[in-house]
Amino acid sequence: MQHDAHGWWIAEAGAPPPLPALRGDTDADVVIVGGGFTGLWTAWHLLEADADLRIVLLEADRCGFGPSGRNGGFVQGMTLSRPTLTELFGARGAEDLVAAAEASVREIGEWTRSQGVDAWYHAAPHLIVHAAPGQENKFVRAVEGEGVVALSAAEVRARCDSPLFTGGLEVAAGATVQPARLAFGLRERLLGRGVRIHEHTRVRGLERAVARTDSGRVRAGTAVVAVGPASGALPPLRDRLTVSSSHIVLTEPVPDVVEAIGWTGGEAISDGRTLLHYLRTTPDGRILFGWAGGRMAMGARTGGRMEVDPDVIGRAKADLVRFFPALAGRAVERAWGGPIDVSPTHMPFVTTLPGGRAHAAFGYTGNGVGPTHVAGKALAALALGRTDGAAALPIVGPPPKVPPEPFRVLGAAAIRRALVAKEAAEQDGRTPSVVARALADVPARMGMHIVR
Ligand SMILES: Cc1cc2nc3c(=O)[nH]c(=O)nc-3n(C[C@H](O)[C@H](O)[C@H](O)COP(=O)(O)OP(=O)(O)OC[C@H]3O[C@@H](n4cnc5c(N)ncnc54)[C@H](O)[C@@H]3O)c2cc1C
Repeated sequence: MQHDAHGWWIAEAGAPPPLPALRGDTDADVVIVGGGFTGLWTAWHLLEADADLRIVLLEADRCGFGPSGRNGGFVQGMTLSRPTLTELFGARGAEDLVAAAEASVREIGEWTRSQGVDAWYHAAPHLIVHAAPGQENKFVRAVEGEGVVALSAAEVRARCDSPLFTGGLEVAAGATVQPARLAFGLRERLLGRGVRIHEHTRVRGLERAVARTDSGRVRAGTAVVAVGPASGALPPLRDRLTVSSSHIVLTEPVPDVVEAIGWTGGEAISDGRTLLHYLRTTPDGRILFGWAGGRMAMGARTGGRMEVDPDVIGRAKADLVRFFPALAGRAVERAWGGPIDVSPTHMPFVTTLPGGRAHAAFGYTGNGVGPTHVAGKALAALALGRTDGAAALPIVGPPPKVPPEPFRVLGAAAIRRALVAKEAAEQDGRTPSVVARALADVPARMGMHIVR
């Protein structure tokens, strides 16, 4: 098994040659910091609003080499979050947000078709399966919403036959993509429309929409900060998110197994754990299996075990075979991971930074592939000085705070360990310890949501 810092998607897509770093000073209407989906979609939506805008995008590494190019490729609306969104923003706000997020799932597909970008976009419902006792009641409230249907064990197993599956939900709005192909396609189309993109260009400071790098500056009218889990390094956002990690293992092509378990509809599947398992197939018959059980990072640190954690990868590999015993003896070829920006409410935030000249989005909590398209619309609207449309969505506004370090990482790590222990016990049919149960319940009792 190859542990691969950037993941298989990037190798499969074939990364385009790097773009030159910024040299010297330049002017722009909008400077975008970060070349993941948030930054790339923001640039696209800005150009849709005004094709003559001068946009400079600065990326510390390569566009799409962060989580955007190495995730599970689940394109999700926020359908299942409707009950939480209603609690947070009221029924009207929740409806607006779910409608916007579900529209983005479709619009990403339309974009790939109209732009001729072969990002393997495949529209298919998202299945949330019960794969261990204790998962049945996780999303019962969501069934009442539109676009969600409860499935029996037989119905789930007809779509994907794992002996663990005892029922689940089908969420109509969903799709999968090859995320690196999507990121590279976006980068290519933006270059074609005149966006100046500089890679290997880390922004060291941002004051009044002037972005300072080691080799030059961009003086802009407005700045957009789209740096994902690194957002916590910005002083105004330091207490607004925690960083954890998620890891993926990928099998060799196993089309015979995929066929035998009847998983031929291309559905993205996740289970009802809080630290969820997520699984999908690829067109060449591989099974991708991810687990959001990675450790917490101190502050905004995103390297090291956030990128590759052998313990977490080992557990994901074992769980994969538990889900599909027919994979015993088949090769797991690749494994990789990446940081996750977790917001206290589990929902992304789009916010204007002090001074009013810069806007940021972060906190996707492992569900950003679809929502970055929505947040990109909101960021573009804010950068253009608008207060209506996407800028009026309820995710726009000041995000709530998380506890300061070191309490944040110590508390979150203890809760996370308890959740791992509790969910592993539930999966094995054991009763979780009282301590594990009590700690795992803390976020819910505090009204907080943590990564699913
Ligand atoms: C293993 C894994 C699996 C996932 N699976 C899914 C999934 O299946 N579905 C889903 O919806 N979501 C998933 N996610 C989450 C999803 O990938 C993210 O929510 C989404 O990609 C966020 O995009 P972003 O542009 O905000 O951030 P990023 O992709 O992190 O992009 C931020 C960019 O900013 C750059 N940057 C950072 N600091 C600076 C600086 N100072 N100057 C310039 N550039 C800087 C970084 O290099 C990076 O390229 C997963 C994440 C991981 C790690």
